[in-house]
Amino acid sequence: MTFRCRNRVRRTFTVLLTGATIAALTPSVAGNAVAADQTPRITASDYAPQLAAESTSRAGNVMYSGPKTINGRKAIYLTFDDGPVTRGTPEVLAALQANRVTATFFVVGGLANSRAGTNIVKRLHGAGMPIAMHSWSHPVMSGWSTAAVQRDLTVTTKAIRRATGEIPTCFRPPYGAYGRGVTNAAAARNVSVVMWDVDPRDWTDPGPSALASRVISKLHPGAIILMHDGAGHGRQAAAALPRIVRAARAKGYVFGTLCPMRRPTRSTSAIATSAAGGGS
Ligand SMILES: [Zn+2]
Repeated sequence: MTFRCRNRVRRTFTVLLTGATIAALTPSVAGNAVAADQTPRITASDYAPQLAAESTSRAGNVMYSGPKTINGRKAIYLTFDDGPVTRGTPEVLAALQANRVTATFFVVGGLANSRAGTNIVKRLHGAGMPIAMHSWSHPVMSGWSTAAVQRDLTVTTKAIRRATGEIPTCFRPPYGAYGRGVTNAAAARNVSVVMWDVDPRDWTDPGPSALASRVISKLHPGAIILMHDGAGHGRQAAAALPRIVRAARAKGYVFGTLCPMRRPTRSTSAIATSAAGGGS
């Protein structure tokens, strides 16, 4: 198992999550095990083709790579973790838009739930970037029970839905650490566990040029590339993006997104209502 975050990153999180936001980070909602089993909707995008529908049906499975091709063209998938943050996420979004590519954002629910975080997630979503879950407060969840993971996914889903009006369909456990609780809870909610197979270790802060080289040297069809907009690494990622995009396009790749979000239905509305009423 690869753990991409080390102590320094954890410390960064501690800093990010202190102060006024800390109260918002304690899930206060009773667990709700009702599965949201609606068919995933393919979100339209101006920039890149979307993940093929058949791949999104692997709910409950752990996905390390995406579809190798989209419409017959070699595809890769940028993913960004640990946001939303005011210093990092807007820079990454601007770089993505300037280079006309899309990415999938795995957000921390407690950050997305703040006023600033909600606005950033709204902007990402409005720009065609799917929003997925990266837990409520970035704990190690490998030893968690199914019920505990369910509670976390419930409150994280609620924060994302509040910002986007839609339901996330993927979960990436912090540090890539997962056990049966994670896979069972994800399966019960019809949520895919999405990992990665290209890790440029951007959290070691190699600088934009070295970061771009690390990504470019590992590109292959279906690659899910792990990068960070949060935890202090967003500016570096944004600065590396133009070179990554240029090199990938020169090799014939298109940029796809994972985790198309679902529109809420009457049954998922019931989940949100029940969660809202269950707070203590
Ligand atoms: Zn993370």
